This record gives sequence, C-alpha cells and structure tokens, in this order.
Amino acid sequence: MEIRNLTRRYGDLTVVDDVSLAVMPGQVTCLLGPSGCGKSTTLRMIAGVEMQDSGSIYTDGQLICDTVYRIPPERRHIGLMFQDFALFPHLTVAQNVAFGLTGPKAEQRARVEELLARVDLLRYIDDYPHGLSGGEQQRVALARALAPRPRLMLMDEPFSGLDNRLRDEIRDQTLAVLKDEDAAVLLVTHEPEEAMRMADEIALMRGGRIIQQGAPYNIYNAPRDRDAVAFFSDIN
Ligand code: ADP
Ligand code: MG
Repeated sequence: MEIRNLTRRYGDLTVVDDVSLAVMPGQVTCLLGPSGCGKSTTLRMIAGVEMQDSGSIYTDGQLICDTVYRIPPERRHIGLMFQDFALFPHLTVAQNVAFGLTGPKAEQRARVEELLARVDLLRYIDDYPHGLSGGEQQRVALARALAPRPRLMLMDEPFSGLDNRLRDEIRDQTLAVLKDEDAAVLLVTHEPEEAMRMADEIALMRGGRIIQQGAPYNIYNAPRDRDAVAFFSDIN
C-alpha cells in the first residue's frame, strides 16, 4: 500500500499535511506520534471512511482513491482494528469471526477454526463474547479482522484499552499472527515502546507531517531533532 502526498484540512487547520508512506506485505509500519498529530485521520482516509483534500492511495500499484476516483471502503480488502471496535454481542465467537466471510460454510468454519486456534481461543468458539476477558475479546477481534485475508491491516491504538500486565503478551501474539498471515500492517500508536516492539519501520509524525522515517533502532539512535528525542526519552 502506498499513499502519496495525502492532505486533509478542517477549516484553516491542516491536520494531515502532504504525507507519503509505503507499507510492505509482511511488514509492520508504525505511525508514531503524540495525540492530535493526525494519525487517525490518515488511517481513516486509507480505510475510505474519510476523503482527502489532495493526494492519492494505491494498493498493489492500483489507484484506489484520489480526489476524483474512489473505490468504496468495503471493496478495499482492508482489515480494521480499533481500541473500541467491539465484537457483536448477539453473535457467538465463531459468528463474529465469520462475519466478513463469504463462500461455502465448511470453508468458513475451517478458516474460523484455524484463526481461533492461532490465537488460542478455540475452546470459546461457540460462546458469546461477554464471558471473555478484554484481552480475549481483542484476540477474537484480531481473528475477525484477518478472516477475509485482507492485504492490508489498519490498526488504531488497538492495545490501549488493555491492562498493562496483558499488553506485552497480546502485542507479541498479535505480531506473530500478523506475520503468519503476511498482511501489510499500518499500526497507529502514541507509545514509543509499542512501536519499538512491533515495527519493522517507524514513521514519526508531528503536526500532520512525517518528520522522520526508518528502522526503529535507527530512529531511536539517531533522532532527527529535539522533538524526536523528547518523544523517545521516556523509554529505555
Ligand atoms: P491522532 O489520531 O494523532 O490523535 P487525529 O487524526 O484524531 O489525531 O486528529 C488530528 C487533528 O484533527 C486534531 O487536532 C483533531 O482535533 C482534529 N480533528 C479530527 N477530526 C476532526 C473533525 N472531524 N473536525 C475537526 N477537527 C478534527
Ligand atoms: Mg487517534
């Protein structure tokens, strides 16, 4: 997936300012920056639920959206995961995971079982979500997002609602599952340690712009300016 020169304004405020970024299959790219810097707006434009003022978005070299042409969100083969992206309470775990699937029932069931086994939740397959812990529900949400084999996963602070105690474990498991599925992943976070733990590539964002981009340790070891230093100063 590639975005080129994406810009979004609200009135006089430019919240996403000429952002260009590429995300490769099998890789996790982190959009890392403080609250309000334009991360979620960028993700929403890629998902297709918000229009850019200028710039274009491509997947596999094909234009999916510019200011005149637009493929609707449901045809973009994108998986979504947000902090508050709740499971459907009236559907079982299996029905939740199968939600975006089409085709023969037996194949759907096989895919559901494969993913639930992968996130260690097969034993809950016919239960309803309310009995599951927050971390378990999050892993069901991961399975649901991945079930239709999206080429691109967009994740907006997906771990921020979780207990500290669980968070690292769920981050690691999520990362392993994402790598298995070989999706291109764009993960939004305001937490440097999350980006350091999960990213193959970090794009550091501030004030709507990408101010530095590179491998995690390159950015950590050679921050471009004082703002980049400040942003990393609370991890060790
Ligand atoms: P982040 O996800 O990095 O915290 P957002 O993309 O949510 O940042 O927001 C970036 C900026 O755009 C913020 O200043 C926010 O207040 C503003 N903003 C977001 N959505 C709207 C909107 N619908 N109308 C006006 N301003 C908005
Ligand atoms: Mg946000």
